[in-house]
Amino acid sequence: MDWDSGATGQVEQVVVEILEAVRRRGDSAVLEYTARFDRITASCVAELEISPERRATALDRLPSMQREALEFAAERIRAYHQRQKTESWSYTEPDGSILGQQVTPLERVGVYVPGGKAAYPSSVLMNVLPARVAGVDEITMLAPAPGGEINPLVLAAAQIARVDRLFTIGGAQAIGVLAYGSETIAAVDKIVGPGNAYVAEAKRRVFGQVGIDMIAGPSEIMVVCDGQTDPEWIAVDLFAQAEHDEDARAMLVCPDPLYLDQVQSAMERLLPAMERSEIIRAALNSRGALICVRDLAEAADVVNFVAPEHLELSLIEPERMLSAVRHAGAVFLGQNTAEVFGDYCAGPNHVLPTSRTARFASPLGVYDFQKRTSLVRCSGDGAARLGRIAGRLARGEGLTAHARSAEYRVQESDDEQQPP
Ligand code: NAD
Repeated sequence: MDWDSGATGQVEQVVVEILEAVRRRGDSAVLEYTARFDRITASCVAELEISPERRATALDRLPSMQREALEFAAERIRAYHQRQKTESWSYTEPDGSILGQQVTPLERVGVYVPGGKAAYPSSVLMNVLPARVAGVDEITMLAPAPGGEINPLVLAAAQIARVDRLFTIGGAQAIGVLAYGSETIAAVDKIVGPGNAYVAEAKRRVFGQVGIDMIAGPSEIMVVCDGQTDPEWIAVDLFAQAEHDEDARAMLVCPDPLYLDQVQSAMERLLPAMERSEIIRAALNSRGALICVRDLAEAADVVNFVAPEHLELSLIEPERMLSAVRHAGAVFLGQNTAEVFGDYCAGPNHVLPTSRTARFASPLGVYDFQKRTSLVRCSGDGAARLGRIAGRLARGEGLTAHARSAEYRVQESDDEQQPP
């Protein structure tokens, strides 16, 4: 995120202190910071755990419309991610040697679900379900519950996604305890999930000890429009992104200057009725853009330079432009496809690369919870062939033990081939 350096320095200092305390003192430090930042006093970390029964009750008590919506979204997200699962593979060479790759799920994953100022049940589904589909053994979810309050939708989503353990712990202390483990919480292998400045800084610092998904920046949308969509639709699509926070980026690219004016008028007309109009206005004023291009080919250049997190191709023939799009986290094709569908229930993951990282990064997926191990099994002939080459290369590097190790296999093979 873009914090000014003074604030960033302060956050870094606080986070270093919290992580060190959690690493050294485990549960007692977690309890101390949870009391200080989230105003929950507990005598042990076990008291911060929310049992599967409590989660099931939260799900049972949801109004049926809400429950149906969550279950509908979960089903679509699960179905989409099932298709991402990769399998182990191998092939046999003519000399009988076998080469392959074994794909295994991670053992333990920690999912952070932010909850300081708002609740994000969709984050639960988007982060937990791909891990579940990958076959992760144990998923521990941590979410703050300021003043002891946790949103029932978050509990219900955790139940639907079948989280194994759930604790009401937030901030840098949550990331610390997931990375280092404590008396009550087992250390995980990878931590995923968004969060505020403290969470992001803590994730950056524990990376290496554990894997992390990414450090998410402010949310972004770029809409490319041919001027054929109702300007009000585009105006609210831009608002939907801008209402996340003041740093969110919402940009419209169009070859028709008159259409850009129409969208601007629609925004001015509709903005006062938006509940989060102040945030939207601040985001649009500081980071919004209406960009007039010569044609759609130039629009594609703008897209590829910005590499937006979300790209809406609000075009009559979106497929014609798609082949020119190289860098974007997720693409929403055609006038009907609102980007917000992707936030909740279209199926693809809403955790996407931001801040131009779509040049090299991909959406969160099942592949983030699978790892690959390479496999080699040499036949006698294969060992002899590789041994000769490896021996030569090892001697070239001056590594004689390497050379010997390789050459023994050549001898072995030659011996085997001698008549008795
Ligand atoms: P949060 O859960 O990230 O942070 C709350 C925690 O911050 C508290 O538990 C506390 O431990 C810690 N904290 C607060 N003040 C502190 C201080 N002065 N010193 C040390 N620790 C302190 O919740 P949030 O604050 O509401 O932030 C959520 C963030 O996640 C927002 O920026 C939101 O935009 C982002 N988000 C991103 C996505 C995404 O997909 N990219 C989704 C949802 C939310």
